[in-house]
Order: sequence, then structure tokens, then C-alpha cells
Amino acid sequence: MADLQARLEAIAAEMAAAPDRGRVADYIPELACIDPDQFAIAVCLADGTECAAGDADTRFSIQSVSKVFTLAMALGRLGDQLWSRVGREPSGLAFNSILQLEHERGIPRNPFINAGAIVVTDALLSGHAPREFLGEYLRFLRLAADDEDIHVNEAVARSETETGHRNFALAYELRAHDNLHHPPDHVLGAYFHQCAAEMTCRQLARAGRFLMGAAAAPRLLSPARIRRINALMMTCGHYDGSGDFAFRVGLPGKSGVGGGILVIVPERAAIAVWSPGLNAQGNSQLGTLAIERLARAQHWSVFG
Ligand code: GLN
Repeated sequence: MADLQARLEAIAAEMAAAPDRGRVADYIPELACIDPDQFAIAVCLADGTECAAGDADTRFSIQSVSKVFTLAMALGRLGDQLWSRVGREPSGLAFNSILQLEHERGIPRNPFINAGAIVVTDALLSGHAPREFLGEYLRFLRLAADDEDIHVNEAVARSETETGHRNFALAYELRAHDNLHHPPDHVLGAYFHQCAAEMTCRQLARAGRFLMGAAAAPRLLSPARIRRINALMMTCGHYDGSGDFAFRVGLPGKSGVGGGILVIVPERAAIAVWSPGLNAQGNSQLGTLAIERLARAQHWSVFG
């Protein structure tokens, strides 16, 4: 525990001095003004120990990290039926690409690219008003994190509603292929709000504990489904940077353009890292480097 804490502090100090911090996402205007000099890391171990360093109590926009939680909710609610509407293959393309969707007749490659996540949100809306979906989503996050103080940043949701033209294009394309059952503006309203949820690194690491599959972690999904979500995080969680993340880190992870990454060490730890500057694939530049350092120092890898 003291070792891990010292390691996190050393990593935070190294990241504070890092010259190349990547670029903050500016296609969502509300995210463009985030200070890129921030960094945080938090770890929850299977035995309940928690350590953190840096700005671990600062809230950030979880963005696409939310797709792990909505996938877990959808698998819990609909089970394997979901796989008739969304695939399980890495896309090798940017998170918001529209190319493959037309080519593959409206079945998104996986639930972590935008098109796939929009289908998952559509599936969760079935029988619910968008407001009810959001209530259920926030309940899931709060239960997973064991913390009621998790909310949606309305300004970020609004900002993306005004500028999310590409997501509208994806939603209409899905609708044209009959793979969207609700009106595009309803689904995207729900999707933009889910992405605009804010958490601190401490909260996000706690919310990820159920994906460790450890006996002491909250049991929100069956072990078989947890293994599958981890497999998808490994193969698809960083879009066209997933292979590089697996190569450098060797652990399942899910990134978001807010600069957060949730990483799982099966049966051992849930890690959240945050730094707002992104690399060319839209994944946190220093977040990835920090996780690479930590995984190597702790000998944490699913590859032995
Ligand atoms: N809300 C963002 C979008 O749809 C999420 C993308 C991301 O985090 N990669 O563009």
C-alpha cells in the first residue's frame, strides 16, 4: 500500500513535468477550455485498499468511458440479444467514423465506437422516456461507485447537442438501416447526457470495481459478462489506438475524449487516470503513459 502510494506520487510528479501533453478535445466547445496541465490517477485494489495522486478529486467529463457502463446496463437488461444489433470486432477507424457503417448496413462494429454506443443507448431507451433512462444510468454509476455525488454537466451536454453533427449523421444512418428504434434527437439527447456525466478519478476507479470480478467488489453483472466486457475493452476500448494500448499496457481499458481512462486488472485492481490532452486517436496522451508506467512497475498485465 505504501509502495503503491509512493509509485502513484512518482508517476504524478513525472507527468507534471512532461513536455508533450497532447491536445484537449475542441470539437465539443465546453471541453476546449479545460486546463491541459491537470493530471490524476486513482487505484482501487481487490482488498478494498484505495490510493490516489494528483488532481484525484477534480471532476472531469467521462465522455466515452460512459460506454462501458451503458454496455453493462444493456447486457444486464437485454442479454445476448444486443449482439444482433452491434458487433464485437475492432473497427480500426476513428471513434466517430461513418465509413464502415454504410458499408456494413447499419450494424456498428462494436459497442465502443460512437455508432455502436448510440445503438446501445437506443436499446436502453426501449420502454423508457430519455429522462428515465438518465435516472437509471445515474443510479447505476452511483451504485457502482458507492457515491451519490455523481451528476451530469448540463452545459457540456448542451454544447455537444449544438455541435454533434457527426453523431446526428451516424444516428440517421442507423435509422435508415432500421437499427435505431427511437427518433435520432431523443437517442442523441440521452447519449450526449450520458457522455456529459462527471466524475473524479477516485469515483471512476470505484465505479470500475465491478469489472475486476473480485469477490469483494460490488456484483452488478455475472462473471461471464464481466469477462466479455473486459475482452471488448482490450480489443476496442481505444478505437484505432486499441492495438497500441494492448501492446504498451497489456490491460483492458476504455478511454474518453475528456481525457479519462478506466483500466481493469482482472481480479486485482480498477484504475482511473485523467489528463485532458489527447493523442491523434483521441485517447489521453499522458493518461496512457501513466498507465504504462504503473502496469510495468506493478507487473500488471493479462499476458502474464
Ligand atoms: N461524446 C463524444 C462524442 O460522441 C464521446 C467521444 C469519445 O469520448 N471518444 O463525440
